[in-house]
Amino acid sequence: MGRVGLGVAAGCAAATCAIAAALVARRASARARWRRVVALLREFEDGCATPTPRLRQVVDAMVVEMHAGLASDGGSKLKMLLTFVDALPAGNEQGTYYSIDLGGTNFRVLRVEVGAGSVVTSRKVEVTIPEELTKGTIEELFNFVAMTLKEFVETEDGKDEQRVLGFTFSFPVRQTSVSSGSLIRWTKGFFIEDAVNDTVGTLALGHYYDEDTVAAVIIGAGTNACYIERTDAIIKCQGLLTNSGGMVVNMEWGNFWSSHLPRTPYDISLDDETQNRNDQGFEKMISGIYLGEIARLVLHRMALESDVFGDAAYNLSTPFTLSTPLLAAIRKDDSPDLSEVRRILQEHLKIPDTPLKTRRLVVKVCDIVTQRAARLAAAGIVGILKKLGRDGSGVASSGRTRGQLRRTVVAIEGGLYEGYPVFREYLDEALVEILGEEVAQTVALRVTVDGSGAGAALLAAVHSSNRQQGSI
Ligand code: ADP
Ligand code: MG
Repeated sequence: MGRVGLGVAAGCAAATCAIAAALVARRASARARWRRVVALLREFEDGCATPTPRLRQVVDAMVVEMHAGLASDGGSKLKMLLTFVDALPAGNEQGTYYSIDLGGTNFRVLRVEVGAGSVVTSRKVEVTIPEELTKGTIEELFNFVAMTLKEFVETEDGKDEQRVLGFTFSFPVRQTSVSSGSLIRWTKGFFIEDAVNDTVGTLALGHYYDEDTVAAVIIGAGTNACYIERTDAIIKCQGLLTNSGGMVVNMEWGNFWSSHLPRTPYDISLDDETQNRNDQGFEKMISGIYLGEIARLVLHRMALESDVFGDAAYNLSTPFTLSTPLLAAIRKDDSPDLSEVRRILQEHLKIPDTPLKTRRLVVKVCDIVTQRAARLAAAGIVGILKKLGRDGSGVASSGRTRGQLRRTVVAIEGGLYEGYPVFREYLDEALVEILGEEVAQTVALRVTVDGSGAGAALLAAVHSSNRQQGSI
């Protein structure tokens, strides 16, 4: 080989080396970025961890806060609101009743036929609450409620008859009697300046079908729970007398807080995005409005600190673009190539061409968010059971009759719980972990369908002229 030839060969070799070095460097930095993503994932997973001992701490904190909230107004972040519902349907109510249900997204009017052990909705009108009304005045919102109700009644037979109506209002209300109260604060994305409950309806419906029902939990857009408390345990309302000796207490458990709750930087970011900062901390880890958003915040951080989502990182920067039903669909995808995850990323988040390992990462993030939520909800439920002495702890507790553990039913309802089987599995698993097999077998979670509608109508039935029918 001549000198020129050698020179060219040397030049080629140098270029090849440079390209190889660049490729190696790129691969190394890609590997480093992926390692960063994996580290973020691990950090998030550790931050969300809810091993059984921690769940037990949450249970105990819930019990402590329940006591504090019952002792005095403002004694706890748990408001433990009196509902003045001292009688629940016993299963023998009869007649036609109505209910109106103002929830997180929809407003509904129902006509309900009660009798022969069943509750049948015979007519229903459902309308989406116009977005502007969730930010307007209370008058505007209630005008809308009244107009919808008026239209409903006008199309009924015998429209001049008096009707008995139950009103489910899925916001925290400080009640002054069974039919009056004042709004404490808007939650669930509602923000209405000049003003602030559906679990009680769920409890009523659950109790209608099964008198062992002692508590109700909603896990939908938001989350809340209520249960039957002895009036003498409601210290903040001394001398409270009811025929039944009990009263339904609306816990407003979405606002529960404890240092034992596994809080991550993403939860803090989420809180900062909301209008009710520093409030509804438990709800923000559990319920439908928030789960998708927590996952989005994690994915966005990953996108910023690596190139896992390529040029599409920006598309992850918009709050609330990943809804909880989408998160559920991602977690549910069991196809070998995660084709549903690919479709959701592409169509809903505008992130095309994700490799399989990135799709797996997204599934994992959604799983962590789901698992934490479901397990914390389980701890909350056990907290109520423990307060009632029905968690099997303490042999002499009132949860045992004649050496037997008493059967306990918790009515449960809400779009997230009903629509997301993985969530339910995680919740059941955690209940068994905390309670142990034997006690967990005595606790039934019973899904009620439409407690906020039919349950409210049943309460109207119990609290109308036929008061003696109710029991608690
Ligand atoms: P609300 O009565 O407060 O409006 P719902 O009980 O109807 O709420 O629940 C609606 C919420 O449930 C939605 O915000 C959504 O986040 C969640 N949800 C509905 N369907 C599903 C599903 N299939 N998977 C997961 N979450 C769901
Ligand atoms: Mg609802």
